[in-house]
Amino acid sequence: MTKERAIYDEIGVPRVINAAGTKTRIGGSLIRPEAVEAMRDAAGAFARISDLQARAGELIRACTNAEAGYVASGAAAAMLLGAAACIARDDPGVMARLPDTEGVADEIVMPRTHRTGYDHALRTAGATIVDVGTNDRHLGTGSENVEPWEIEAAITDDTAAVAYVQKEYTSPPLGSVVEVAHRHDVPVIVDAAAELPPKRNLSRFVDAGADLVVFSGGKAIRGPQSTGILAGRADLVESAALQHLDMHAAAPVWDPPRELVDVDSLDGVPRQGIGRPLKVGKEELVGLIRALERFLEEDADALRREWTERVEAMATRAADLEGVTHAITGGGKVAAAPELRLTLDEAAGATAAELVLALRRENPRVFVGADALDEATLTLNPMCLSDDEADYVLDRIEANL
Ligand SMILES: *Cc1c(COP(=O)(O)O)cnc(C)c1O
Repeated sequence: MTKERAIYDEIGVPRVINAAGTKTRIGGSLIRPEAVEAMRDAAGAFARISDLQARAGELIRACTNAEAGYVASGAAAAMLLGAAACIARDDPGVMARLPDTEGVADEIVMPRTHRTGYDHALRTAGATIVDVGTNDRHLGTGSENVEPWEIEAAITDDTAAVAYVQKEYTSPPLGSVVEVAHRHDVPVIVDAAAELPPKRNLSRFVDAGADLVVFSGGKAIRGPQSTGILAGRADLVESAALQHLDMHAAAPVWDPPRELVDVDSLDGVPRQGIGRPLKVGKEELVGLIRALERFLEEDADALRREWTERVEAMATRAADLEGVTHAITGGGKVAAAPELRLTLDEAAGATAAELVLALRRENPRVFVGADALDEATLTLNPMCLSDDEADYVLDRIEANL
């Protein structure tokens, strides 16, 4: 057993074999070894956090086409900072008051079908979410869930931003949302936390006109779990930085990097902001920088071939399971990697839910995708498995049927 795996035994916590993909609750992704090494080195010496943020910002700028970039403790944290930036802008008084938004434009307009549990992060900054549109698409009438005019009609003097969640299935297209928002000088925040790979998505949303975009550092980038990227307009990223960086500094000697903060435009040092509880340390910043560099260099086609071969090997074994039909899906639209869907019928000896639960209760725990239990289906994702582990998952499925 490898040292990495032994640590969980040593502290008495069951390990997880991850056939579910990059899920935060079971540890996200495996951080790149180069990032761990960089973090260990960073832990041995000091650096000013704002200098590290400026360096990370330079890299983020280069790969996203954005004017500026910043790092928070996750994509959800970056959403919170983005919302705080859109509400407070360059006003240190408002920064100091958040989440109290009395007298300030604090509404974030969102298509109803883009609402997710993560929008709590926007509300945490003090925003009130204004839903627009319907769920009509699912009625089969051909009508859209939300039309750009509905977003436009919801924009008032109280609007701080429009929020958009990027998934392959989301509508309307980002470009048309940007167009109506910008007509009213309202910024657009895009949650693209899990939209990597492909690498080209790093710049896709900025190119489509988004003012702020967030990506998770702990998913396919395989940086530290507690990192997220905020990329976008320089004035908004500066506001985010001012509400996130540690601000306990004596005014006469406050000298943050110019590319991050324009000190001359401020009357003094802002107070600790709403983002202060979302801190990232020097180790996380260095780890994210190194992981993002490696992500940019990585051979994406080779990785996809590896995932495809692993899924095909699992499918070969699944073909021998009684009462189980299988299909390979995805790898294109919604999912980054191909997945194996296993659908169980009466002959299988257990329901899909029973099997999923039994696997989770094993030691090591085996996590498989459970998003389609209502279709008697579980899914196997190859991204976070080794070939041996993929084999082991099929062993355990067989043993539990
Ligand atoms: C994963 C995810 C997040 C949160 O990302 P963290 O880096 O874990 O904070 C937000 N939005 C969406 C759509 C996600 O998939």
